[in-house]
Amino acid sequence: KVSRLYESEAQVPNGSPENWNQSYLNIAILVHVKLQSAFDLLSELKKIEQIMGRNLQKEKWSPRCIDLDILYIEGVQFDTEQLTVPHKELFRRPFAYLPLRDVLPRLEMNEPTWYKKYLISGHSEFNTHVSENHFLPIIVGVINVTSDSFSDGNKYLNKENLLSTT
Ligand code: ADP
Ligand code: MG
Repeated sequence: KVSRLYESEAQVPNGSPENWNQSYLNIAILVHVKLQSAFDLLSELKKIEQIMGRNLQKEKWSPRCIDLDILYIEGVQFDTEQLTVPHKELFRRPFAYLPLRDVLPRLEMNEPTWYKKYLISGHSEFNTHVSENHFLPIIVGVINVTSDSFSDGNKYLNKENLLSTT
């Protein structure tokens, strides 16, 4: 399952470069994994972050291209130096908790104190809200209007109603 896409204001120290002040996008996905342990999942996530270009050195407050966290595992709870499940900051981060609720509405945990207020007012810390600017497409289609289409063998080439190619 995939949650809605949420947008949050960046938290940056005063005097940070202007271009750090970009909103963050968050999403939760609910997956079944065939792995031995949550630690294996964490190491897989870290590999993906690395492939996607996450730069741990420069990014304390600066925009990051990706951050993959384990938010919750059904029936699992532990706290180690390397990994804490559920995620330590889950209740304090509306940008993690709200998408998680989308994919797991009957989350078996007490609600954070701010959640009821959010349901009434739509306001939360970091101004986390369902994004109006970004969204996941529900249906994707491709219209091929080039003259070198491999699928129709140029059948429509030179037809008057053909859209001009760019
Ligand atoms: P954050 O996700 O809090 O912004 P990082 O992505 O830099 O920060 O994570 C720092 C470390 O937190 C990771 O290297 C990982 O070992 C540890 N960690 C502890 N619990 C979790 C979790 N549930 N999901 C992902 N990382 C976790
Ligand atoms: Mg992380």
